[in-house]
Amino acid sequence: MSVNCAAEACTEAAIALLDERHFCRAHFLARAYRHLESIASQIQDQRFHSEHGESAASFLEQCMRQTADLACGEELPGNLERAQVLDVLLWASELHGRLRRGPRVRAKIPILVRCEDPMKPWEEKTETRLVSRHGFHLECRHEVQMGGTVTCIRLDNSRRVDAKVVWARVKASGETEAGLQFLTDEDFWNLETRVAPPGPSEDLTR
Ligand SMILES: [Zn+2]
Repeated sequence: MSVNCAAEACTEAAIALLDERHFCRAHFLARAYRHLESIASQIQDQRFHSEHGESAASFLEQCMRQTADLACGEELPGNLERAQVLDVLLWASELHGRLRRGPRVRAKIPILVRCEDPMKPWEEKTETRLVSRHGFHLECRHEVQMGGTVTCIRLDNSRRVDAKVVWARVKASGETEAGLQFLTDEDFWNLETRVAPPGPSEDLTR
Protein backbone atom coordinates (compact mmCIF):
# COMPACT_ATOMS: atom_id res chain seq x y z
CA MET A 1 0.00 0.00 0.00
CA SER A 2 2.40 2.65 -1.21
CA VAL A 3 1.34 6.28 -1.33
CA ASN A 4 2.37 8.63 -4.09
CA CYS A 5 4.35 11.79 -3.44
CA ALA A 6 2.13 14.78 -2.73
CA ALA A 7 4.20 17.15 -4.88
CA GLU A 8 2.46 18.24 -8.05
CA ALA A 9 3.03 15.96 -11.05
CA CYS A 10 5.38 13.69 -9.11
CA THR A 11 4.74 9.98 -9.60
CA GLU A 12 7.39 8.72 -7.18
CA ALA A 13 6.39 6.67 -4.17
CA ALA A 14 6.26 8.65 -0.94
CA ILE A 15 8.80 7.67 1.71
CA ALA A 16 8.55 10.44 4.30
CA LEU A 17 6.04 12.69 5.99
CA LEU A 18 6.30 16.46 6.37
CA ASP A 19 3.53 18.89 7.34
CA GLU A 20 1.02 16.03 7.29
CA ARG A 21 1.81 15.20 3.66
CA HIS A 22 3.79 12.33 2.18
CA PHE A 23 6.69 13.01 -0.15
CA CYS A 24 9.26 11.15 -2.20
CA ARG A 25 12.87 11.55 -1.09
CA ALA A 26 13.71 14.39 -3.49
CA HIS A 27 10.63 16.42 -2.67
CA PHE A 28 10.95 15.71 1.04
CA LEU A 29 14.54 17.01 1.02
CA ALA A 30 13.70 20.08 -1.08
CA ARG A 31 10.84 20.99 1.22
CA ALA A 32 12.82 20.32 4.38
CA TYR A 33 15.67 22.53 3.13
CA ARG A 34 13.25 25.37 2.33
CA HIS A 35 11.73 25.18 5.81
CA LEU A 36 15.12 24.96 7.51
CA GLU A 37 16.39 27.97 5.57
CA SER A 38 13.36 29.94 6.58
CA ILE A 39 13.74 29.02 10.27
CA ALA A 40 17.50 29.71 10.18
CA SER A 41 16.95 33.18 8.74
CA GLN A 42 14.52 34.15 11.51
CA ILE A 43 15.95 32.34 14.52
CA GLN A 44 17.71 35.46 15.84
CA ASP A 45 14.44 37.32 15.96
CA GLN A 46 12.77 37.50 19.40
CA ARG A 47 9.32 37.85 17.84
CA PHE A 48 9.83 34.68 15.80
CA HIS A 49 10.50 32.80 19.05
CA SER A 50 7.37 34.01 20.77
CA GLU A 51 5.06 33.77 17.76
CA HIS A 52 6.36 30.76 15.83
CA GLY A 53 8.68 29.00 18.27
CA GLU A 54 6.26 26.18 19.05
CA SER A 55 5.38 25.38 15.45
CA ALA A 56 9.00 25.61 14.35
CA ALA A 57 10.00 23.23 17.17
CA SER A 58 7.36 20.71 16.19
CA PHE A 59 8.38 20.95 12.52
CA LEU A 60 12.03 20.36 13.47
CA GLU A 61 11.12 17.40 15.67
CA GLN A 62 9.18 15.78 12.85
CA CYS A 63 12.00 16.54 10.44
CA MET A 64 14.53 14.91 12.79
CA ARG A 65 12.37 11.82 13.27
CA GLN A 66 11.78 11.38 9.55
CA THR A 67 15.41 11.89 8.57
CA ALA A 68 16.62 9.58 11.35
CA ASP A 69 14.27 6.88 10.00
CA LEU A 70 15.39 7.51 6.44
CA ALA A 71 19.06 7.41 7.37
CA CYS A 72 18.59 4.00 8.98
CA GLY A 73 16.28 2.62 6.31
CA GLU A 74 17.06 0.82 3.08
CA GLU A 75 15.26 3.21 0.74
CA LEU A 76 18.31 5.35 0.11
CA PRO A 77 19.95 4.44 -3.17
CA GLY A 78 23.41 5.85 -2.49
CA ASN A 79 25.90 7.74 -0.39
CA LEU A 80 24.96 11.13 -1.81
CA GLU A 81 21.34 10.67 -0.77
CA ARG A 82 22.41 9.47 2.65
CA ALA A 83 24.69 12.50 3.05
CA GLN A 84 21.82 14.85 2.18
CA VAL A 85 19.51 13.17 4.65
CA LEU A 86 22.15 13.39 7.38
CA ASP A 87 22.77 17.02 6.48
CA VAL A 88 19.08 17.80 7.02
CA LEU A 89 19.08 15.81 10.25
CA LEU A 90 22.10 17.69 11.65
CA TRP A 91 20.84 21.07 10.58
CA ALA A 92 17.39 20.41 12.06
CA SER A 93 18.87 19.30 15.36
CA GLU A 94 21.19 22.30 15.52
CA LEU A 95 18.27 24.68 14.89
CA HIS A 96 16.18 22.79 17.43
CA GLY A 97 18.88 23.31 20.05
CA ARG A 98 19.14 27.00 19.24
CA LEU A 99 15.39 27.37 19.40
CA ARG A 100 15.33 25.79 22.85
CA ARG A 101 18.14 28.01 24.11
CA GLY A 102 16.14 31.06 23.10
CA PRO A 103 17.05 34.09 21.02
CA ARG A 104 20.39 35.79 21.40
CA VAL A 105 20.29 39.50 21.96
CA ARG A 106 23.09 41.88 21.06
CA ALA A 107 23.93 43.58 24.34
CA LYS A 108 26.96 45.22 25.90
CA ILE A 109 26.62 44.56 29.60
CA PRO A 110 29.72 45.40 31.67
CA ILE A 111 31.03 42.34 33.51
CA LEU A 112 33.98 41.16 35.52
CA VAL A 113 35.15 37.72 34.47
CA ARG A 114 37.13 35.77 37.01
CA CYS A 115 38.99 32.53 36.41
CA GLU A 116 39.99 30.74 39.59
CA ASP A 117 42.39 28.30 38.01
CA PRO A 118 44.92 27.70 40.87
CA MET A 119 47.79 27.59 38.35
CA LYS A 120 46.86 30.75 36.49
CA PRO A 121 44.11 32.81 38.13
CA TRP A 122 43.04 36.01 36.41
CA GLU A 123 40.22 38.48 36.26
CA GLU A 124 39.28 41.03 33.69
CA LYS A 125 36.66 43.69 33.15
CA THR A 126 34.98 43.37 29.80
CA GLU A 127 31.49 43.41 28.37
CA THR A 128 29.13 40.94 26.79
CA ARG A 129 28.57 40.83 23.02
CA LEU A 130 25.48 38.66 22.85
CA VAL A 131 23.33 37.42 25.69
CA SER A 132 20.69 34.71 25.82
CA ARG A 133 18.60 33.11 28.50
CA HIS A 134 21.28 30.48 29.12
CA GLY A 135 24.56 32.22 28.47
CA PHE A 136 26.52 34.89 26.63
CA HIS A 137 29.37 35.71 24.27
CA LEU A 138 32.30 37.84 25.34
CA GLU A 139 35.68 39.04 24.19
CA CYS A 140 38.62 39.32 26.54
CA ARG A 141 42.39 39.63 26.55
CA HIS A 142 43.03 36.53 28.66
CA GLU A 143 43.15 33.06 27.30
CA VAL A 144 39.91 31.22 28.01
CA GLN A 145 40.06 27.44 28.27
CA MET A 146 37.34 25.53 26.48
CA GLY A 147 35.48 23.37 29.01
CA GLY A 148 36.74 25.53 31.89
CA THR A 149 34.57 27.39 34.36
CA VAL A 150 34.63 31.13 35.05
CA THR A 151 32.70 33.38 37.39
CA CYS A 152 30.89 36.30 35.80
CA ILE A 153 29.95 39.31 37.91
CA ARG A 154 27.66 42.01 36.50
CA LEU A 155 29.15 45.41 37.16
CA ASP A 156 25.74 47.08 36.96
CA ASN A 157 24.02 45.07 39.71
CA SER A 158 26.75 42.87 41.26
CA ARG A 159 24.93 39.65 40.46
CA ARG A 160 27.24 36.73 39.91
CA VAL A 161 26.99 33.40 38.16
CA ASP A 162 29.30 30.54 37.23
CA ALA A 163 29.53 29.68 33.57
CA LYS A 164 31.17 27.02 31.47
CA VAL A 165 33.20 27.89 28.38
CA VAL A 166 31.47 26.09 25.51
CA TRP A 167 33.74 27.35 22.75
CA ALA A 168 36.62 29.79 22.46
CA ARG A 169 38.78 31.10 19.66
CA VAL A 170 41.69 33.51 19.52
CA LYS A 171 41.09 36.28 17.01
CA ALA A 172 43.68 37.83 14.73
CA SER A 173 43.77 40.80 17.13
CA GLY A 174 44.97 38.47 19.90
CA GLU A 175 41.75 38.80 21.88
CA THR A 176 39.78 35.71 22.73
CA GLU A 177 36.16 35.38 21.74
CA ALA A 178 34.17 32.83 23.74
CA GLY A 179 30.70 31.40 24.22
CA LEU A 180 29.67 30.65 27.79
CA GLN A 181 26.80 28.71 29.25
CA PHE A 182 25.48 29.26 32.78
CA LEU A 183 25.80 26.38 35.23
CA THR A 184 22.55 27.33 36.93
CA ASP A 185 19.14 27.99 35.46
CA GLU A 186 18.54 31.56 36.53
CA ASP A 187 17.45 34.47 34.40
CA PHE A 188 20.77 36.22 34.91
CA TRP A 189 20.20 38.98 32.33
CA ASN A 190 16.54 39.50 33.30
CA LEU A 191 15.53 38.59 29.78
CA GLU A 192 12.22 37.12 30.81
CA THR A 193 11.03 40.19 32.63
CA ARG A 194 11.95 42.34 29.65
CA VAL A 195 9.24 41.22 27.27
CA ALA A 196 10.05 40.96 23.59
CA PRO A 197 7.99 43.71 21.88
CA PRO A 198 9.95 46.83 20.94
CA GLY A 199 10.44 49.23 23.79
CA PRO A 200 11.48 47.78 27.13
CA SER A 201 14.28 45.62 25.75
CA GLU A 202 15.72 48.43 23.66
CA ASP A 203 18.35 49.38 26.24
CA LEU A 204 19.74 45.85 25.99
CA THR A 205 20.54 46.28 22.32
CA ARG A 206 22.69 49.38 22.72
ZN1 LIG B 1 8.04 13.70 -5.31
